[in-house]
Amino acid sequence: MSSNKRTPIYEGKAKQIFEGPEPGTLIAHFKDDATAFNNQKKGQIRGKGVINNKISEYLMLRLSEIGIPNHFIRTLNMREQLIRAVEIVPLEVIVRNVAAGSFAKRFGVPEGSALRMPIVEFCLKNDELGDPFVTEDHIFSFDIADPMEVDDIRLMSMRINDFMNGLFRGVGLRLIDFKIEFGRIYDEEGRSKIILADEISPDSCRLWDVTTGEKLDKDRFRQDMGGVEEAYQEVAKRLGVLPSAHIAELDDKRVES
Ligand code: UDP
Repeated sequence: MSSNKRTPIYEGKAKQIFEGPEPGTLIAHFKDDATAFNNQKKGQIRGKGVINNKISEYLMLRLSEIGIPNHFIRTLNMREQLIRAVEIVPLEVIVRNVAAGSFAKRFGVPEGSALRMPIVEFCLKNDELGDPFVTEDHIFSFDIADPMEVDDIRLMSMRINDFMNGLFRGVGLRLIDFKIEFGRIYDEEGRSKIILADEISPDSCRLWDVTTGEKLDKDRFRQDMGGVEEAYQEVAKRLGVLPSAHIAELDDKRVES
């Protein structure tokens, strides 16, 4: 099915969303487009959409197994997955284990310092405002989520962090920090429930090699470090989610172009 025959619902920076085959479903199409610094830097990372689709599928399935409800239904093809339609809670939830990026700058903590305990931060999902930092008071006052929902979001975020720390550590990667998003679904009685949505991939996580400290995530693109495509491939390879034949195919395409 060609993507331009379907009804587009929304186009984001890294994904395009189409109407799904059944009510309450959507199709997420993962693009190779990459942005950083609130859209000021734009580019493409060849093969990123394929890899992020696979990595996100893998992580969402593992998280379902430990009881984290999420929007993933099934993979449709190399770049697309069927997901549940949710009402997105407009928050970027960031969990940090080690100081890096804007946190290191903001608090003057050297990049790479381990934090005494994981820190959960909330930012308003609003590009025009530059995703400003918000506290729970802002969240309640602006009616973004209620206290029970924020509790659910915090608990799930910590559990996701614990689980992913172990999972990545098992393949020689240190989970420095990550960003996740949540959404609401409603039952027949109109009661809502918070579930994990969006994606989890090297676009939204910082991952450093345990032994060498090498960065294997979008920071390579943000900081023009080179080896961006290889870094995404390496994460997929370590998680065992991309057949090596496909990685070879991505390599061939790069050589041809
Ligand atoms: N992040 C993201 N989208 C954003 C902002 C942050 O996926 O719009 C991720 C980022 O990749 C990192 C974590 O959230 O893994 C923490 O990012 P930080 O606040 O340090 O911002 P940055 O320095 O990346 O702008």
